[in-house]
Amino acid sequence: RSKQEGRNTYRIFDSSMDEIMKHRVALQQELDEAIRTGDGLSLDFQPQVNACTGAVIGAELLFRWVRKSGEHVAPEAFIPILEESGQIVTLGKWIIQACCKQLHEWRQLGLDVGKTAINISTVQLSNSNVVEDLLAAMEEYAIPSETMSVELTETALMVSSATLTQNLMQLVENNITITIDDFGTGYCSLTYLKRLDAHYLKIDRSFVAGIGHNETDESIILATIAMAKGLKMDVIAEGIETQEQVDFLTQHQCDILQGYYFGEPMSALMYQQHLFTAKNDSSKR
Ligand code: C2E
Ligand code: MG
Ligand code: MG
Ligand code: MG
Repeated sequence: RSKQEGRNTYRIFDSSMDEIMKHRVALQQELDEAIRTGDGLSLDFQPQVNACTGAVIGAELLFRWVRKSGEHVAPEAFIPILEESGQIVTLGKWIIQACCKQLHEWRQLGLDVGKTAINISTVQLSNSNVVEDLLAAMEEYAIPSETMSVELTETALMVSSATLTQNLMQLVENNITITIDDFGTGYCSLTYLKRLDAHYLKIDRSFVAGIGHNETDESIILATIAMAKGLKMDVIAEGIETQEQVDFLTQHQCDILQGYYFGEPMSALMYQQHLFTAKNDSSKR
C-alpha cells in the first residue's frame, strides 16, 4: 500500500519501520540469550498490606530485566514485544520456576511469605500450559496453593480459546487465588465477571491517582468496590502513594493496599531482609 502513496512516503515508512524492526529483533535476541543464561533476569517483590491492620499479607512479583548495556528496560516496553513473538511463554516458564524456587528458600528459612501474586498475561493463558507449569513448579518446591495468587487482566475473560478456558479451570480446581488486575482499563463487559469465580478485583493505579482531586475517578472506585462486594470479591488497590489515598480507600472498605506508600518493588534480597525484620518483631512481641 505504501508504494501507491509515492516514492517518498515509501522511503520514510521503510526506514522508520526498519529501525523499529531492528530494535525489536535486537531485544528479542538478547532476551533469548538472557533466558538461556539467566543473566540480567530477576524478580522484584512489592508488599501488599491489609487495609485495616497495616500488616503485610504478601507480595506481588514483578519481573525485571537489565540488558548487557546496563539499561533497565521497563516491563511495559518489552512484554508486549515478547507477547507478539511468543517468547513470553518461555520467559513465563523461567519466571514461574524462579518464583517457586525463591518462595521455597524463604519457607525453608521459616519466613512467613504470605500470598504471592504472579502476573500471567492473556497471551500466556491462551497459548501455553502455563497453569500446568505453575502447578508442577509448586509441587516441586512444595508451595501450598493457598499461598499462590495469579493476576490476570480483563482481556483474559473475553478471549474464547480452549487452552485459555482449560487454564482458568485448572486455577479454580486447584484453589489458586485469582485476581483481576488493572480493573477498569480494559474493555470487559461486566457479564464476563460472572463467568469466572475470581477472588480479588484490583483497582488500577490510574484511578487511585485521581483520589482527592478527580471526582470521576473517585466515583469509579466507589462503584467498583460496591460491585465487587456484591459479587463477594475482595478489593485490592494498586499505586498508593499518599496518606490521602490510604484514608479514602480504607474508609470505603478496600481490603488490600499496595503502592510506593507501603513499599516499592524490591529485590529478593531486600525483601528477604524485610521478612526477617518482620519475623524478629513478631517473636519479640
Ligand atoms: P501490573 O501488574 O499492574 O503491576 C503494577 C505496576 O505498578 C508495576 O510496574 C509496579 O512497579 C507499579 N507500581 C507499584 N506501586 C506503584 C506506585 O505507588 N506508583 C506507581 N506510579 N507505580 C507503582 P512494573 O513493575 O513496571 O510492571 C508493569 C507491568 O508489567 C505489570 O503491571 C504487569 O502487567 C507486567 N509484568 C510485570 N511482571 C510481569 C511478569 O512476571 N509476567 C507478566 N506476564 N507480566 C508482568
Ligand atoms: Mg499485576
Ligand atoms: Mg495492576
Ligand atoms: Mg497496572
